[in-house]
Amino acid sequence: MKYRHLGKTGLQVSELSIGSWVTFKNQVDVDAAMKIMTAAYDYGVNFFDNAEVYAGGKSEEVMGAALKKLGWRRGSYLVSTKFYWGLNDGVNEKNTLNRKRLIEGIHGSLERLQLDYVDLVYCHRPDKTTPIEETVWAMHNIIEWGKALYWGTSEWSASEIIEAIQIAERHHLHKPVVEQPQYNLLERGRLEGDYVRFYKEYGYGTTTWSPLASGFLSGKYQGGIPKDSRGSLKGYEWLHSRLTDQERLKQVAALEPVAKEIGATLSQLALAWCLKNPFVSTVITGASRVEQVHENMKSAEFVEKLTPEIMDKIDAVFGVVKKGEDDD
Ligand code: NDP
Repeated sequence: MKYRHLGKTGLQVSELSIGSWVTFKNQVDVDAAMKIMTAAYDYGVNFFDNAEVYAGGKSEEVMGAALKKLGWRRGSYLVSTKFYWGLNDGVNEKNTLNRKRLIEGIHGSLERLQLDYVDLVYCHRPDKTTPIEETVWAMHNIIEWGKALYWGTSEWSASEIIEAIQIAERHHLHKPVVEQPQYNLLERGRLEGDYVRFYKEYGYGTTTWSPLASGFLSGKYQGGIPKDSRGSLKGYEWLHSRLTDQERLKQVAALEPVAKEIGATLSQLALAWCLKNPFVSTVITGASRVEQVHENMKSAEFVEKLTPEIMDKIDAVFGVVKKGEDDD
């Protein structure tokens, strides 16, 4: 496993990591979580991503119980959580990054995770109603109290992140250091567009999500929605239109010979493609079973096989025109 600095921070994160969205609690109990986390840890994974809202807090409980049973040295791994949607419907308890919610949120998450601190804490979405200054101060306090070590944003706009950084600089507060954007072969826009400025000017890190577009890029949806997949879970019907989109299915089919050419599976190709981007600090993978962890962790071996010719073939599948090529 290779490790990359989280942006300009001194923190090193395994280039492949594991997240618990959808899987922990819904598909994976504590024993299965221990197996998935152990398989990943054995490959050198040091980062486990979570969020307060995942499975209504139960995902944190499962990860906390698994970590407790595993008894790993605390210094050997990183855990994150995120806040925005909340767990309750009260007026100050959902869709907010106000000070009250963030402080109450971190206390609840640490209790469920059975940890003294999380390594990373994210603002899961921007809050258009709370002044960014209030959020920055609350995140600063959470760090000063030792309840989290670094903080970041998820799916914030470029201007919102810059505002947060500038407020922190003005008041000498802990700045956000990392963004968590979606990034995969089908969703490249933001990471390759708006955010480029952050890596260059601010050294902002990125922990990217859904590298397989919820499993779609593995090719498992080519013959319809398999019974044992995320797509057939109750509550995830909203994914169906994406998982059965004919245009996207054709693109995945066209990717198959490219994967074969480098001796990779489709999943490995899709993950290696994310790893190829030097601005990605870590690719957060998801797995509902241990075999997927084994397959996915081997994807790093294929990064060097993604030559400019292979990258061009991949771009051609998705109709991506390189800058300059479409200039008149
Ligand atoms: P992926 O797009 O990689 O999807 C993971 C799912 O794909 C697995 O649960 C499994 O589902 C299937 N899969 C994984 N590997 C394989 C394989 N080799 N072959 C076939 N199927 C495979 O990632 P996620 O969408 O799970 O996102 C990863 C993490 O990113 C999350 O856990 C979370 O931590 C983070 N995230 C953050 C968000 C944010 O807003 N900040 C939003 C979403 C995710 P199946 O059960 O069908 O087998």
